[in-house]
Amino acid sequence: MADTRNGEKREKRKQTIAEVRREQARREKSYRERALKLFPWVCARCGREFSGKNLRLLTVHHKDHDHENNPLDGSNWELLCVYCHDNEHSRYLDAEWSEGPTPGDKKKQPSTYKAFAGLEALLKDK
Ligand SMILES: [Zn+2]
Ligand SMILES: [Zn+2]
Repeated sequence: MADTRNGEKREKRKQTIAEVRREQARREKSYRERALKLFPWVCARCGREFSGKNLRLLTVHHKDHDHENNPLDGSNWELLCVYCHDNEHSRYLDAEWSEGPTPGDKKKQPSTYKAFAGLEALLKDK
């Protein structure tokens, strides 16, 4: 049942996901840069130090697991290396890594919210 319309739909969905990913990456980059200015480049869990090329492995974790909550003073951020970060999330299985909006999240920015809403509608439309 692979008619062209289905193919188009899939293509469109792929594009939307790519857009959302790009938007996520852009946002993440901006708060990551800020977090890197605020904190020493050390993993808060294992204490590993980062610099230069290694710095890619240092990521921003959200203490309340709400990645829309980005106070500029960094109070919701923690720098974790990718390994510890992974660990942290496999323990809690929260929504931070998932693509959908967090249920009950009221603090999201309008632009992001729209992107997510569009994606959700598309994914539901099967
Ligand atoms: Zn670590
Ligand atoms: Zn995290």
